[in-house]
Amino acid sequence: SRHEKDKDKGVNVQVLLRCRPFSEDELKANAPQVISCHDHRREVTVVQNIASKQIDRTFTFDKVFGPQSQQRDLYDQAVIPIVNEVLEGFNCTIFAYGQTGTGKTYTMEGGGRKAKSGELPADAGVIPRAVQQIFDTLESQNAEYSVKVTFLELYNEEITDLLAPEEFSKVIIDDKQRKPLALMEDGKGGVLVRGLDEEIVTSANEIYNLLDRGSAKRRTAETLLNKQSSRSHSIFSITIHIKEASPEGEELIKCGKLNLVDLAGSENICRSGAREGRAREAGEINKSLLTLGRVITALVEHLGHIPYRDSKLTRLLRDSLGGRTKTCIIATVSPSVHCLEETLSTLDYAHRAK
Ligand code: ADP
Ligand code: MG
Repeated sequence: SRHEKDKDKGVNVQVLLRCRPFSEDELKANAPQVISCHDHRREVTVVQNIASKQIDRTFTFDKVFGPQSQQRDLYDQAVIPIVNEVLEGFNCTIFAYGQTGTGKTYTMEGGGRKAKSGELPADAGVIPRAVQQIFDTLESQNAEYSVKVTFLELYNEEITDLLAPEEFSKVIIDDKQRKPLALMEDGKGGVLVRGLDEEIVTSANEIYNLLDRGSAKRRTAETLLNKQSSRSHSIFSITIHIKEASPEGEELIKCGKLNLVDLAGSENICRSGAREGRAREAGEINKSLLTLGRVITALVEHLGHIPYRDSKLTRLLRDSLGGRTKTCIIATVSPSVHCLEETLSTLDYAHRAK
């Protein structure tokens, strides 16, 4: 079983499945439901009618969150332990993977995030909840700490800083003038993005403002450049340093990093017959998504060679994938028959990561 595999091989990749509720449009169209979620059995069943025969396929995941699941359920059951690892000084990554419109951004960012009377709204997603858990924990400990965040977008294998100050945003209006940031090896096995803004933050509210600013910038750039967010990946990273005294009175610094990744729509991965101008773009998007799949497979199967170097996404996340890190993939799907084909390919991709 999965559990034994984890124990034997020390694999730290968790795959969750989340199915969103029907949208208003799907309800209006009376779209039949083709997915049923059994949260307790951790199973998802897809019902297909092929040549008037009903065929069921069942997939098992580490956790399943059906349409009734709340943001808080997913956070409490799946994310709290990961953030605890980060606070212990490890690097962890959470991905949202799925077709456009299935709830990746809803899951990662969610609705409102401003704390009202100290409480997050019910539809707040993983990022604001993680931020709150991090500051609640740090403030309750009697240790010195620092928290830094970066927020970047990867589009066409090019990196854009979503936190860069306003005067730089002019640059992104014209795609030809746009200067993507360079990715360089730091000589210590990691990478650094030259010129990427690192914001030092001292409270959860400061991060919520940065998140708002970055998301707004992502949307503006999208409109101006006529592109869709469905084609870009965004990575929100929180780095925490905690100063501690060892029992011998020595000073120790624990450093942990949490990457929260809203991936490009998975439909971009399967359209092999990309048309004209879109060809390069589709190819480049495929590159990061496909390489991510290969890296995760290589990690799970303990292959000798992990192809981190084959895409920007996996180079960026190299120090947070594999080794003593925890990775969580949240695969998102729609319950509707109209999405059936994409749903099956998401389930297959996510299942392969197990
Ligand atoms: P994606 O980022 O995958 O393209 P979105 O997160 O933008 O998809 O979700 C598409 C729509 O569905 C949004 O209007 C979002 O609010 C809604 N939605 C997604 N998941 C849920 C959910 N679990 N509960 C309620 N509404 C959801
Ligand atoms: Mg989105």
